[in-house]
Amino acid sequence: MQTFDVIVIGGSYAGMAGALQLARGRRQVAVIDAGIRRNRFAAHSHGVLGQDGKSPALIASEAKAQLLLYPNLSWIEGTVEHAEKVGDLFQVTTRDQQTLSAKRLLLATGVSDHLPAITGLQDRWGKTVFHCPYCHGYELNQGPLGVLAVSEASLHQALLIPDWGPTTLFTNNCFTPDELQLKQLAARHVRLETEAVTEITGEQAAVVKLANGRLVELAGLFVASLTKPASPIAQELGCELAESPVGFYVKTDDFKQTSIPGVFACGDLGRAMGSVTFAIGDGAQAGFAIHRSLIFEGLPG
Ligand code: FAD
Ligand code: MG
Repeated sequence: MQTFDVIVIGGSYAGMAGALQLARGRRQVAVIDAGIRRNRFAAHSHGVLGQDGKSPALIASEAKAQLLLYPNLSWIEGTVEHAEKVGDLFQVTTRDQQTLSAKRLLLATGVSDHLPAITGLQDRWGKTVFHCPYCHGYELNQGPLGVLAVSEASLHQALLIPDWGPTTLFTNNCFTPDELQLKQLAARHVRLETEAVTEITGEQAAVVKLANGRLVELAGLFVASLTKPASPIAQELGCELAESPVGFYVKTDDFKQTSIPGVFACGDLGRAMGSVTFAIGDGAQAGFAIHRSLIFEGLPG
């Protein structure tokens, strides 16, 4: 069995940002990655300084090519199925039965998105259906926009979106705005549509089909996806979770260490709301912290 200083599980933006600092710290690093990034549905990634508008895959492949230049970094394509602490080391097993061990683990496995079960919605995810206006709002060119409610928490999204275009809130039987909420929606000029949504169609536009047969054509439809860790490994290791309005993530301290000493988490897995920029920042923070913990926790006294 090969033993590393650090095994990074998940080699997308967060995991690679952590691995980069650790490789530059001249540590032995293994990155294990299944290659299924959260933003794989979108053709363009926005809001990342110096990379604005590039394809998500290109940003990742350029970063990976740079990482592979470090001889002290091993890249393993695969899926980690099991991780546990055995003595002083963490032992990790992949789906194809490779076993590796390390002094520290960096979890960067991201989250998975769960959308309401409405015909045509998932097919348009990342194309005309989005969750993040900062990522995709600008390109909708101030056309008519929609917010599909999943709960009362969608009110917040409906109040935000009008900066990107005239907005309709589809409550879809998820909640009924109270008097104050109606005043807030009016203050932001949000139109209210209470008829149930039955289907999303359209290619260039998101066409919302209502239960009464009416069609509403939009440049884009925003919906809060419910998120959960993409891999059960953090829970299997015993890492404490935290809850956000849209799902669960792994709780960390300011240095991205989880509740389990020696296990760190970064990127979407370790924060309430993620983006590529935050993933890179968190990954770098975790990388520095892991490197320091390898030195200072090993000193006498
Ligand atoms: P991810 O990029 O999701 O990567 C996780 C990695 O871990 C994957 O490669 C996965 O295969 C791997 N993995 C998971 N489990 C295992 C396992 N058990 N073993 C091995 N590997 C594993 N953000 C922006 O900043 N700008 C945008 O324009 C933007 N657009 C988006 C569009 C859509 C449709 C969506 C859904 C999200 C978008 N985001 C955008 C958010 C962005 O995708 C995430 O914030 C970012 O991908 C988080 O990076 P990460 O490294 O934490 O996780
Ligand atoms: Mg990652």
